[in-house]
Amino acid sequence: MREQLEQLKNEALLSVNAAGQIEQLQEIRVRLLGRKGELTALMKGLGALSAEERPVVGQLVNSVRDEIESALESASAMARERAKTERLQSERIDVTLPGRCTSTGTKHPVSLVIEEVCDIFAGLGFSVAEGPEIEHDWYNFEALNFPPEHPARDMQDTFFVENNLLLRTHTSPVQIRTMLKQKPPLRIIAPGTVYRCDSDATHSPMFHQIEGLMVDTGITFGDLKGILTVFTNQLFGQKTGVRLRPSFFPFTEPSAEVDIACVICGGQGCRVCKNSGWLEILGAGMVDPEVYRHVNYDAENISGFAFGMGIERIAMLKYGISDMRLLFENDVRFLRQF
Ligand SMILES: [Zn+2]
Repeated sequence: MREQLEQLKNEALLSVNAAGQIEQLQEIRVRLLGRKGELTALMKGLGALSAEERPVVGQLVNSVRDEIESALESASAMARERAKTERLQSERIDVTLPGRCTSTGTKHPVSLVIEEVCDIFAGLGFSVAEGPEIEHDWYNFEALNFPPEHPARDMQDTFFVENNLLLRTHTSPVQIRTMLKQKPPLRIIAPGTVYRCDSDATHSPMFHQIEGLMVDTGITFGDLKGILTVFTNQLFGQKTGVRLRPSFFPFTEPSAEVDIACVICGGQGCRVCKNSGWLEILGAGMVDPEVYRHVNYDAENISGFAFGMGIERIAMLKYGISDMRLLFENDVRFLRQF
């Protein structure tokens, strides 16, 4: 039995030394020390020994097992270390390689103008309001004092969806939605996408507007001019002149077109302002009492004004863009300039 143990130990140490992989060492451990392993089998023979021999051989078995285990342990540690080194070698990263650049985008000029306009009006106490792009005829026209068959509806070539649904032709229905939800005083600004059946160098079937509405007691036309003067001065520069011309919109009375001194020629006259020295940038007016009737406001005791402008037009003037279609072609060479 001693010889068998001695032989088992020598063979075991030899095969441990020969094994290079963790898996091989694992196999050796199972083959020798496992429940059905060779050493375990030898231990079962202990019972056949005499009472004097049993403890001596038992001790020997234990020391052989300890020796094999410690050999396996140190061989495994070395194998693990070797495997790690190999992996590190194979996964070596060349940190001197220059990184790949991700090209960062720029904000679209339309977004830039919307942000800037909202920012200016936020400073004047206005908050942003929104509404749906598919709108009921009632919000888009009727509540804004365009009765059915009214010729003013022709000013806006409408895309109808079905029945009484349409793509909103202006951001003005947001005024109605806001007034139905809120009582005065209110100050809102409503940026958004609008749709009209129109397309050329200065018109697009889809474009953006910003609508403003202020309602309170004692609001006058002077307040309207004051707010718009502060706004245009901030947007185009401190000394921009502002001029109001009488105009017509169904939902305001009186109504005005608002011009600023030409930002290209400074009022001297040029191609952009058609030699007039002025540029039309928005429409405005005092809210028509008929509109208040639709939203259950008391027209006798409150007053207010509304104004609206095309964002693309502002962007074209602010950045000197000659064709509105450039804004929608998404040519990155154009867009990167902003
Ligand atoms: Zn000009």
